[in-house]
Amino acid sequence: HAKKSGKNQSAFFSKALQNTILMKNKIHDILRNSLNNNGFKLLYQPQVDVSTGEIVGFEALIRLKDHQISPAEFIAVAEEHGLIKRMGRFVIRQTILELSKWKVVGLDLKPIAINFSVKQINDKGIIEYIESLLSEHRIPAKYLEIEITESILLENDSEAIMFLNRLKEIGVKIALDDFGTGYSSLSYLSNLPVDKMKLDKKFIDQHLNESGKKIIKQLILLAEAFELDVVVEGVETIEQVRLLQELKCKYIQGYYFSKPIEDEQIREIHSKKYDIS
Ligand code: C2E
Ligand code: MG
Ligand code: MG
Ligand code: MG
Repeated sequence: HAKKSGKNQSAFFSKALQNTILMKNKIHDILRNSLNNNGFKLLYQPQVDVSTGEIVGFEALIRLKDHQISPAEFIAVAEEHGLIKRMGRFVIRQTILELSKWKVVGLDLKPIAINFSVKQINDKGIIEYIESLLSEHRIPAKYLEIEITESILLENDSEAIMFLNRLKEIGVKIALDDFGTGYSSLSYLSNLPVDKMKLDKKFIDQHLNESGKKIIKQLILLAEAFELDVVVEGVETIEQVRLLQELKCKYIQGYYFSKPIEDEQIREIHSKKYDIS
């Protein structure tokens, strides 16, 4: 009996493994296809100044147009299969085109942040690519913000730092995404040319207990000590907004204000001021 169930179990696991591989291959196919057939789009999520309710910028988030696969899933596959550089260039180009569109229709420019995978550091000529698109569309570099995670430092420290310094030199802003989820040492904060810190959603999710509050407060103070702007991610409730106001946090991004939206909707909310009184 025991033998039989043991066998079933291994059959089950190899089946599961097979499914994962099939799934990844399927995603890989979809990604390749989408890269060749304009199958990606960007959504934009506003970032709000907690003291005024004004939208101060947006984060661009990639989506597949015709498939319900989350970026968390397909970005990992893109990284594994060497597709992330092309995908990353699409995101850069699309974002700069979006800024350019705003200019054409007379909207004030506000910064758009894009997510940057560690693997894109090895994309030769990527800085020149960014520079030439910015200058072609006459967009000042400060309107482009690049979000990196702490994991960028685990791969290749000095190369990563050099890369970020070059971005900084051309005037692009840099934000540390998902802050507090990775690295345990904070010493890198003094070596990195970062402008902004995005506190991961997990911190605000713990806002109801006292130690959760203390941690958020200390992280905000830490950011201030390094002269970094702070954005808290994943804010969903008015209670969270109130706490962040109380803790003098400056910027918020989350479903409480808006989910990521289509580019056609940006015009409607671009100059919106949320009521946060
Ligand atoms: P992230 O950069 O930390 O982006 C924030 C994620 O949290 C987004 O998920 C956003 O839709 C979601 N979010 C925002 N506010 C809330 C909220 O109030 N509640 C909840 N539950 N979620 C909220 P999304 O769009 O699924 O992206 C997931 C991750 O995929 C991103 O995390 C980022 O790491 C990666 N990603 C997305 N777009 C790109 C891209 O263009 N390039 C690269 N390399 N990575 C990307
Ligand atoms: Mg991000
Ligand atoms: Mg994040
Ligand atoms: Mg994340």
